[in-house]
Amino acid sequence: MPEYACARLASVPNESGPNHSGTASSDHPYADRFPVNRRLPEQGRPRAEVLAELEQIATEEDRAWEGGKVSGTMYCGDHDHYAYLTEAFGRFAHVNALQRDICPSMTRFEGEIIAMTLDLMHGEAVTGTEPGGLVTTGGSGSILHAVLAYREQAYAAGNRSPNLVKPETAHVAFDKACHLLGVELRVVPVDPATTLVTAAAMADAIDEHTIALVGSAGNYPYGTIDPIASLGELALERGIGLHVDGCLGGFVLPFGEELGYDVPEFDFRVPGVTTISADTHKYGYALKGTSVLLFRDQALRAGQYFHQVSWSGGKYMSPSIEGSRSGGLLAATWASMVHLGRDGYRRYAADIFSTAEAMMKVVRAQEDLRIMGSPTFCFSFASDELDIYHVADHMRPKGWRFNGQQYPDAIHMAVTRPQTQPGVVEAFEADLVEAIAYARERSAAGVAAESGAIYGGVPGGLAGLTDDVTDFIEQIMDSMLDAQMSLPPQ
Ligand SMILES: *Cc1c(COP(=O)(O)O)cnc(C)c1O
Repeated sequence: MPEYACARLASVPNESGPNHSGTASSDHPYADRFPVNRRLPEQGRPRAEVLAELEQIATEEDRAWEGGKVSGTMYCGDHDHYAYLTEAFGRFAHVNALQRDICPSMTRFEGEIIAMTLDLMHGEAVTGTEPGGLVTTGGSGSILHAVLAYREQAYAAGNRSPNLVKPETAHVAFDKACHLLGVELRVVPVDPATTLVTAAAMADAIDEHTIALVGSAGNYPYGTIDPIASLGELALERGIGLHVDGCLGGFVLPFGEELGYDVPEFDFRVPGVTTISADTHKYGYALKGTSVLLFRDQALRAGQYFHQVSWSGGKYMSPSIEGSRSGGLLAATWASMVHLGRDGYRRYAADIFSTAEAMMKVVRAQEDLRIMGSPTFCFSFASDELDIYHVADHMRPKGWRFNGQQYPDAIHMAVTRPQTQPGVVEAFEADLVEAIAYARERSAAGVAAESGAIYGGVPGGLAGLTDDVTDFIEQIMDSMLDAQMSLPPQ
């Protein structure tokens, strides 16, 4: 692979900020401090010793986000809540949710998670069909299952070359699902000022093979909400599905609406909405590894089913893509929801919405910056005057970890509970003002920035990548996985 990429990968900046004393960004994290396991140890180590090692590592890594400078990812950020979820998880972690005969609790937990999420998404507004749902492993899992459901429905109707229409801003998980499931994806550009798609533009992309439209509430790049009501009308008019991606917003926007923020209806109150994804492992404040997919009509859900009754291992049937599933994750998700209740979610949402407003006010006060569209709890900002990645570069050593975006270059902040701590907005303002001065200087001098448009903060320094260099990107991924497998020299 080109030397450039190796050098860049080896020097991936420590995204975790200055408090981080570990070696997480090196190719051999922690090798200098803890035993390296080159083979399965013949004699195991005492539990207390292993747990102490884990405790030390986790405590150090937690410092990277505890100060409230990391976008997204740690949605709750409350160690008491995490301990509570871990206790719930621990009671059922060894249970396989596939085997309901010995763990009827899973039927209860999953059923109630779905019922509570349906309640939040106004399932009571559904008439004429019976709504249903599915707990999946995450947002991408919910989207994959939804696309599978629409594809199976299309196949059953004789449509063997189905396509899905999404606004450009809808999550890349739709691209992945279409890739995996052999569905054509049609991408519709958004209005650069509002960042939103129009129903008219979506209508132009529809043909007789279109199985569903996608709208986001809100979308990942800008936190803006697509015009779901008009997309719903369009879907009904054309007799196709409409998936609302509420992976990010599903557990926070409904409370924003209750609190009086400007949140348009995006759920089952909109007649054309046929499926909704909402991530419990984001603003549902559950453990990582769960999301909910809801169906207006259980008939569509049947597309998930797989059965093979002539296998020597026995008649097999699974209601979704996964086989064995952790009972612990269902128990912890359920525990998060019943502990917080509407009141808890609303209180957290109030803090998140007001913090996001305060942070956006700081951004709006900077003449060189502009906010993309009209966001709510998660926002993105760009600049026509300077290279915005210099801003990210300058703020990173202070502990800030944003996500980089492109077309236009922008930086993204999903406001979560850690940002609602006292002092975070003030620190954001002080560091941002300084960063703008730095960025102005660097941009004027024509110096290239380090940060780039990489989702989720994985390797920096790769800003110039395009799909024209697929081989090159594959080499980078090879080298990422090779690094994961490699051990430090003896
Ligand atoms: C995070 C996210 C997803 C994908 O979810 P994963 O849990 O990362 O698989 C999909 N859509 C939106 C809007 C998201 O923010």
